[in-house]
Amino acid sequence: MTLSAQDKAILMDSIRDIHDFPKPGIVFKDITTLLSNKNAYALLMKHLHDRYSTYNLTHVAGIDARGFIFGAALAQMLNVGFVPIRKKGKLPYTTVSEKYALEYGVDEVEVHIDAFSNVQNPKVLLIDDLIATGGTAFAAASLINKVGATCVEACFIMGLDFLNGQSKISEVVPVYTVIGVD
Ligand code: AMP
Repeated sequence: MTLSAQDKAILMDSIRDIHDFPKPGIVFKDITTLLSNKNAYALLMKHLHDRYSTYNLTHVAGIDARGFIFGAALAQMLNVGFVPIRKKGKLPYTTVSEKYALEYGVDEVEVHIDAFSNVQNPKVLLIDDLIATGGTAFAAASLINKVGATCVEACFIMGLDFLNGQSKISEVVPVYTVIGVD
């Protein structure tokens, strides 16, 4: 269930650093190079499947947009439903929303009000590619709980350890990060 140091290195090496994107001073972790590497992508998805196959989940919820890629694939592997948590204004039916602070200003995520109501006692895994300050994930976990489901864990492919987002979100939900970045 735990990844070997060698497997972690394969994943780490498959992710590309783009300096000064989307603005000066940011090192953007580009997961497109992980996705296009079939060995790295398969290794990651098998690891996530092994970890979550015993959780008795009913849904995986992915955060807009890169969380959809990992979340939808994992939901299929686990034979559970997939729910998108989207940026404001994208979902067509009645939504519940949650605002969160950005470095400058605020942003907002939404989920359909009935997103998990196709089962009783929904148990949800939240997933995204990366946790930085934790603001997005904190808002997403709150949304899941607001619409009557239980968020049992929040999972990230990468965590920027120096930004402390994981400790922020671990106050409300257990956190699992596949790779920590110093
Ligand atoms: P935060 O709310 O600060 O935890 O930011 C997390 C969200 O922003 C996730 O959806 C990430 O995909 C994206 N993000 C933040 N920082 C980076 C980064 N350095 N590289 C790639 N994505 C990032």
